[in-house]
Amino acid sequence: MATIEHASVCPLDCPDTCSLTVTVENAKIVKIRGSRANPYTAGVICAKVASSYPDWVHGPGRLQTPLRRVGAKGEGRFARASWDEALDIIHERVTAVIAAHGPQAVAPLNYAGPHGMLAYASMDLRFFHKLGASLLDRSPLCGGIRTQAWVGTFGTAPGIAPEQVRHSKLIIAWGNNVTWSNLHLTPLLNAARRDGAKVVVVDPKRIKIAEQADLHIALKPGTDVVLAWAIAAELERRGALDRAFIERHVEGFEEFMAGARRYSVADAARICGVPEADIRRLAEWYHTLSPAAISVGNGLERNQNGGSGIRAIFALPALAGKFGVPGGGLVNGAGFVFPKTPAKLQRPDFLPPGTRTLNIVDMGQHLLDPTLSPPLKAVFIYNHNPLVVHPDQNRMRRGLAREDLFTVGCDVVMTDSLAYADVVLPASSHFEYDDIYAAYGQHWLQRAQPVIPPQGESLPNTEIFRRLAARFGFTDPAFTASDAQLIDDAVDGADPRLGGVRPSRLPTDRATAMTVNGEPAILYKNVFPKTPSGKIELASGYLEQKYGSRLPTYRPYDTPFPLLLISPASDERITSTFGGLKPGDVTPPLEMHPDDAAPRGLRDGMTVRVWNELGEVHLPLTLTDAIRPGVVCSLKGAWMRTSDNGQTVSALAPGHHADICGGACYNDCRVEVAAL
Ligand code: SF4
Repeated sequence: MATIEHASVCPLDCPDTCSLTVTVENAKIVKIRGSRANPYTAGVICAKVASSYPDWVHGPGRLQTPLRRVGAKGEGRFARASWDEALDIIHERVTAVIAAHGPQAVAPLNYAGPHGMLAYASMDLRFFHKLGASLLDRSPLCGGIRTQAWVGTFGTAPGIAPEQVRHSKLIIAWGNNVTWSNLHLTPLLNAARRDGAKVVVVDPKRIKIAEQADLHIALKPGTDVVLAWAIAAELERRGALDRAFIERHVEGFEEFMAGARRYSVADAARICGVPEADIRRLAEWYHTLSPAAISVGNGLERNQNGGSGIRAIFALPALAGKFGVPGGGLVNGAGFVFPKTPAKLQRPDFLPPGTRTLNIVDMGQHLLDPTLSPPLKAVFIYNHNPLVVHPDQNRMRRGLAREDLFTVGCDVVMTDSLAYADVVLPASSHFEYDDIYAAYGQHWLQRAQPVIPPQGESLPNTEIFRRLAARFGFTDPAFTASDAQLIDDAVDGADPRLGGVRPSRLPTDRATAMTVNGEPAILYKNVFPKTPSGKIELASGYLEQKYGSRLPTYRPYDTPFPLLLISPASDERITSTFGGLKPGDVTPPLEMHPDDAAPRGLRDGMTVRVWNELGEVHLPLTLTDAIRPGVVCSLKGAWMRTSDNGQTVSALAPGHHADICGGACYNDCRVEVAAL
């Protein structure tokens, strides 16, 4: 039996982007473990990848051939098709849509399943750009709010790498469940702690890292902006502002502070639902402990005040003069450290002028909107499971169920969303193709090669869209570029950090450090804001122009439903990836504080109905004081098979937008709970 170990990289939607060692026996993956090729991830990976990936690649859910729908939409009955047949159907149906409604009646409905730069957005976008399809702004579904808040404040300068927290004396994990969603920050944080650093966790739930923290601030979701403002104002009262730094490097200080000063510590304590003493303690530590690092996670921005919350947090190191030293500043903005060249890779120059852009958060609404001009008549779902992931799930389901909508679905496994497709195309897993990885949570560039051949008749995304381009008669050489050429188009090969090596030739057994002249990037030491003013912009002309949001704001969120449902990341899935994998998938419980359960007559272990005006889900109840009163919690990404009524927590999430970026507001989800 031939056993070979190969280097690879985890492609999933996770900031860590681990390097992997994959054990292959007879062309089958039998084991996946961490490798040391990436010094940051250093041989450690999460249990979900180690335990689930081989089954995902080789299990019964794996799509092996193209399929065409023979049952009703959503029923999941398909017949095998050849690639030629599948491409012919797609060509015929999409051509008819374009003839009747124009190319913008076609749209991609894709997100971030794999994060390799080729699989994520390369030949596919070349194809859609040339087709003249509607553009899809994907970022509002998750990371866009944080990215836009960063760009508005610092431009495209990178923040510090996570390794820097080893030097910190204060580390604030703000809405960042490092144990499940930023695994490799945990040992660094613990090592710093052993050297005397204090750790503060800001999170509505007493997550694991909060149990070991020096301070846990369990604020009400959506009130982060008020907490950060109150800390800013308290720093000012304490004489803890770095006036010299502000004078030289901060734009909009007075405007920002005018907002912050409106909230006393007592006001903030009441609005955020936390003790005044905790706010004062955090302000005191932020004043007296340096270097101080803040790591803002994904999730706290998923509400109507989300962009404001992140911007107000980003303001704190500027106000207190925390930049310019190892371990000081913000562990965010990693994506800007890489020399990416998206215009070369994605070829927006193929786009017809005036092509409209649709916000991904609104796609359920757009699919049902008869006044949309032109209406959506064909969508391509890939790298995405919109039925499970999008807010207002029932609306998305009605949209996908439209009989007059032609849907192409492309994925590695059969998903709940693909059950609505007319044609299904089998995609290769990232273990079956070349790709290059620029992480969004660390500063190492990595490349990976295939470790097994494409399974069944599956093809990499790049080859699928190459074939589609050929079928649609696109003859520009851009549509026959090899994967190696695409990798060379993805990253600037002239960047000195690549040492003269072409991106497509970068070693796969060693990550490439994205440093600044050999040193880690540190804002105000070797990198500087790339804003219009060249300063840190606490009042942002960029965000004002784009979203009418010059300054952070706070709006209370009122609905008739009394409980706030948050749906954070799971320890079993990456968003929805790996959902539906195990036959015995269990329904995620609803976690509730006993003080909320008692007046409703609810007991631990009973099944409850959780509802609002958008939908209803049935979940087993877990009583715990780890979640604050007034807030309930159920983990996101569960598949329909875990549901007895065809709805998961996404059915309860509202479809409105955050204050910037048109971002999704999953955590503005108000519900009531009763016994089923
Ligand atoms: S999901 Fe994250 S922690 Fe797990 S292996 Fe992938 S990159 Fe590493």
